[in-house]
Amino acid sequence: MTEFAQIAFPLPLRKTFIYRIPENLREKIKPGQRALVPFGREKKLGFVVSTSSSAEVKKTKELLDLIDEEPIITPEILELTRWVSEYYYASWGECLRAALPPELQVHTLLWVHKKEPPLLNYEDNKIKLSSREKKVINALEGERPQKITFLEKKIGSKGIYSALHSLEKKGKVELYYELSKPKGNIKYEKMVSLKGDSLEEKKLIETYIETLKKRSPKEASLLELLIKGNRELPLRELNQRIKGASQILNRLEKRGLVRSFYREKLREPLWGMNIECAQEFSLNQEQKDALEKLEKTLIERKYHPFLLYGVTGSGKTQIYIEIIKKVLEKNKDALVLVPEISLTPQIIYRFKSVFGEKVGSYHSSLSAGERFDAWRGMKEGKLKVVVGTRSAIFSPLKDLGVIVVDEEQDFSYKQKEPDPKYNARDLAIVRGKMNKALVILGSATPSLESFYNVEKGKYTLLQLTQRVDLKPLPRVKIVDLKEERKKKNYSVFSFELLSQLKRKIEKGEQAILFLNRRGFSNFIKCQECGYIFRCPHCDITLNFHRTDFSLRCHYCNYKVQASSICPECSGSRLAYKGVGTQRIEEEIKKNFPAVPIRRMDQDTTYRKDSHWEILKSFASKDFSLLLGTQMVTKGLDFPDVTLVGVILADTSLDFPDFRAREKTFQLLTQVAGRAGRGKLGGEVIFQTYYPEDWAIKLSAEQKFLDFYEKELKEREELFYPPFSRLILIRFQGER
Ligand code: ADP
Ligand code: ZN
Repeated sequence: MTEFAQIAFPLPLRKTFIYRIPENLREKIKPGQRALVPFGREKKLGFVVSTSSSAEVKKTKELLDLIDEEPIITPEILELTRWVSEYYYASWGECLRAALPPELQVHTLLWVHKKEPPLLNYEDNKIKLSSREKKVINALEGERPQKITFLEKKIGSKGIYSALHSLEKKGKVELYYELSKPKGNIKYEKMVSLKGDSLEEKKLIETYIETLKKRSPKEASLLELLIKGNRELPLRELNQRIKGASQILNRLEKRGLVRSFYREKLREPLWGMNIECAQEFSLNQEQKDALEKLEKTLIERKYHPFLLYGVTGSGKTQIYIEIIKKVLEKNKDALVLVPEISLTPQIIYRFKSVFGEKVGSYHSSLSAGERFDAWRGMKEGKLKVVVGTRSAIFSPLKDLGVIVVDEEQDFSYKQKEPDPKYNARDLAIVRGKMNKALVILGSATPSLESFYNVEKGKYTLLQLTQRVDLKPLPRVKIVDLKEERKKKNYSVFSFELLSQLKRKIEKGEQAILFLNRRGFSNFIKCQECGYIFRCPHCDITLNFHRTDFSLRCHYCNYKVQASSICPECSGSRLAYKGVGTQRIEEEIKKNFPAVPIRRMDQDTTYRKDSHWEILKSFASKDFSLLLGTQMVTKGLDFPDVTLVGVILADTSLDFPDFRAREKTFQLLTQVAGRAGRGKLGGEVIFQTYYPEDWAIKLSAEQKFLDFYEKELKEREELFYPPFSRLILIRFQGER
């Protein structure tokens, strides 16, 4: 007999709580549902994580209600989030909340209603109120019930609950709870289908169409479309193909030939787009070998992670596609994690062209409706292949056969704020183990940790050593900026980069310029007294943004209007030091006034589809220069890009992080890989003040293994990961 339920709250708490289940809910309750329970003086929503017939606690409160008819959290995700909460010291309830899309989240809302004193009640005047209580009553003018949030805004949140509860006891207010409504809603679309299922009926309609062809060709072609489309099509599609389809439909419906009805529709960002079918390739030998090993493990249903290491353009994505085909044949699901949203359009497009309607995407730049539908599509088994960013690791897919983590070294797999903090790549391994699923970590520049795991025999290495079609890797040239300055060149472009740019532009080819710093200049210094503008919260230098003449903190988003006078000494000789992407854009416009250029960084891509729009426009050669931050370094595949210029290769070297070198190596290798993807070959130029640094040298030579060995040795000497584990313990409080 299930009598007790263990509840985890989406609050920063390490423990769970036991509640007694009322008689009427005992049959209905299942782990993974959300329940409303009394909690302290409030009522709160929590997740039922388990039920049991006995409990070791003496006093338990009773659970009030269940919010979900069926579990909203699958058993697998319950288990995964429990693991996350233990490994990352997070609250289980907060992990569960993170596993749900925001559209499905509900919370309790407290409403407060001021009670009017009964007439002729002389006692009422004698009731004493504290000053806090009086404030609450005054704030509640009028008779309308108010939300607690309204009161908190008006008089502050301190002690408001105790004031309210004592007012309730004194009969002055009434308190009640309401559930917020989840924002997700289901969308329907009108469908049209042919009537008649039997063979005779079908024959009848076919002959009827023949006679209609002369009399009413439009009616005939509509019926023909339906026959071709598996006897059922959305009205929207018919309308696109036949003018006035709705009226024709009405006539046909009256004659009993077709019927219309509404069907649930999954919203999807690429929906309605004309997706071309994928080309068929025959895999090369290395690809075949890799696929064979993967397939063997898939058939054996063993948990076993693979590291697929192959230079950019070596055909890794094609291997993901091929193994997913096999996974789908076994009627299992596939999850593909990609680092950033900027990457997803291209890769989603590619998966869609192969797997069509079975593919869903899941990331933060979806609209609320799209995300809600994607989540539902996975849970209901309509979507079998999900491509998403880190939070997609919590996708409620039913039976995972494979988890792919593309560019596994990428730091965007780490969730930092809000809690729970986790690394989706590591969770992929855990989830794979739980499911006995295949896990493939793919990369052109694997993380030291993953490569070390290969060495220790934890992962199996699959290697693709050549680019598809044997295209050579681009030539990389290192330009020493110190030498450049000696030659009296103080521009942001070296002579070499400038002349290469000219040449490419003249030939009508395309180039990518990369600088890992947005804004115009990254600090402003007073030439008189040396004052530097800093963020009052973070103490780091403020970046100057020319577009709106502001100073911004890239860490906390603090923003002020830029001034032309030093606040310290009132001097007016301010120098703009360090360059950002905006400044480069301006320099390009000075040097090449006629050349179309576009900038891609956080400041130009805050709109939902702007990434996609810039990339599409670059692909169709609307402009020849693409300039940007790390957004331009990954996953882009443009055959006409023959030059990549790195304005300053050193920006990430100076970070106070033991991974600074590794990050620099990865970034530079990736950005170099953007050149020469087509027939024309390609060149890369790294501008640097440290031409001897081995992160820069070895990335220029694309020598991952040498880099790996050097870096690993240093890590071992300094006892850094992967030889140890680092935990950051941060204490925070009010001053
Ligand atoms: P990666 O993921 O390693 O960067 P991709 O799988 O994207 O590599 O492959 C690079 C390009 O080569 C893509 O345009 C892809 O369609 C194509 N490609 C992949 N495999 C083959 C193959 N066996 N034969 C021909 N072209 C291929
Ligand atoms: Zn700041």
